[in-house]
Amino acid sequence: MSDKATEERAREDVSADGPAVPQKGEAGPHAGSGHGEPDKSAKKTEEAPAPRRAEVSNYEIVEHWFGVAAERLELRDDVAAVLRSSYREVQVQVPVKLGDDGKVHVFSGYRVQHNGARGPYKGGIRFHPEVDLDEVRALAELMTWKTAIVNLPYGGAKGGVNVDPGKLESHELQAISRSFMDKIEKVLGPTRDIPAPDVGTNAQVMAWLMDEYGKLHGHTPACVTGKPIALEGSYGREAATGRGVVQVFQEAAKAIDLDPSGTRFVVQGFGNVGAWAARLMQALGATMVGVSDASGAIAIEGGVDAEKLAEHVREGGKVADFDGSIEEIDPDDLLAVECDVFIPAALGGMIHRDNAERMNCRMMVEGANSPTTPSADAILNDKGVTIVPDVLANAGGVVVSYFEWVQNLQHFRWNEDQVNDRLGEIMRRAFHEVANRAKENDTPMRPAAYELGIERVVEAASTRGYI
Ligand code: NAD
Repeated sequence: MSDKATEERAREDVSADGPAVPQKGEAGPHAGSGHGEPDKSAKKTEEAPAPRRAEVSNYEIVEHWFGVAAERLELRDDVAAVLRSSYREVQVQVPVKLGDDGKVHVFSGYRVQHNGARGPYKGGIRFHPEVDLDEVRALAELMTWKTAIVNLPYGGAKGGVNVDPGKLESHELQAISRSFMDKIEKVLGPTRDIPAPDVGTNAQVMAWLMDEYGKLHGHTPACVTGKPIALEGSYGREAATGRGVVQVFQEAAKAIDLDPSGTRFVVQGFGNVGAWAARLMQALGATMVGVSDASGAIAIEGGVDAEKLAEHVREGGKVADFDGSIEEIDPDDLLAVECDVFIPAALGGMIHRDNAERMNCRMMVEGANSPTTPSADAILNDKGVTIVPDVLANAGGVVVSYFEWVQNLQHFRWNEDQVNDRLGEIMRRAFHEVANRAKENDTPMRPAAYELGIERVVEAASTRGYI
């Protein structure tokens, strides 16, 4: 399929898109009906500001790009049908007693294993109130292409529980983590499927998951990655996704003659990925002129100090109340802040057909998964924005998760410089493989990345005799 055809297809999506889906906080699939259904809600309720989200779901976004690449690769329909669907989808109930009254709350937990042709399934576990099967499926498929694009010996998976961890006490979060592991351990293991942190989970949650798995199978550190250093975690894992974002940015900057030390950038979502990307960009001499989290957004011409903001957030502060002298802006206006590089690092679907036109950057490096809808992608390409897509740009986390797994299997620890140097080698190699493919095909990097990943999975699956 030609570049023009790709754009036309995305444009058709623009006109085919229905009205925007309900925003977070509005009635959605998990909204209580009030008709005696189990109480799935987290204990304390406090409304988060409603983010403006996409006209299409994460699943539709991933399917769109798979379809574009499958057409270009002229994949047979029967082969495409295997690659589109998941190998295994597990849905479990996670009943946990919460609060002083000891009432049982039932959450839904998911683990989707999309494709294991290239190795054990690999992918994060997300704790977020909006997690559902559709989203987990999309993220699992994204992991299949991502691990193939950076050439790791893994397949793709994802998991999640529809809980808001910010509203739970630590012991309640621990109870949910352990209960979830008890329900899914049969499909996990170092040679089967290895979870890692994602939105709403962290090294502590991985420690509880490993401990619970160990009760049934004996001490098995390689059963999850993203663990604390004290429990055979890897140096450099926490910063890895943000570091990878910056490593590919440095390569992409050369292509558009952008000097990293003079770069002005904006970060949407100052969490693990966003904060590390911001701090490492700042270390190169770049200036963060706008930043947001779920609490709101701030922007200032002279720059927000990423190190100080990270410290403020670590101590429990919110971006919106960081420094009174910095102007708070409407989160929707963050996209319009003039900058060289925009780094989406929050949730999927945040850049969509209704706001993409407002973006005012030369380059976008996607730290988040599926932050951009196909319609928005077409608008940004028209505006001449260079996009380094999620499947490449945010792969640093899974690369260092792979290093952690290798270290666990060998019971031999690498130092932080070894981890960071090897991460850089892999990210740079993957960037150039994708960029060269894009050049050969005369397409943007996203379709080129998908093609590369799909091709590698097809080769592994057919060589095994699976398809
Ligand atoms: P996180 O929970 O640490 O951070 C998410 C951040 O986004 C938080 O600061 C949160 O306040 C903010 N946020 C939420 N809603 C927002 C909104 N409407 N507007 C602005 N900010 C909002 O999660 P993370 O691990 O940093 O993951 C962020 C993204 O990166 C996700 O899409 C995730 O799937 C992706 N990702 C993460 C990793 C990893 O290693 N952590 C790896 C690959 C991809």
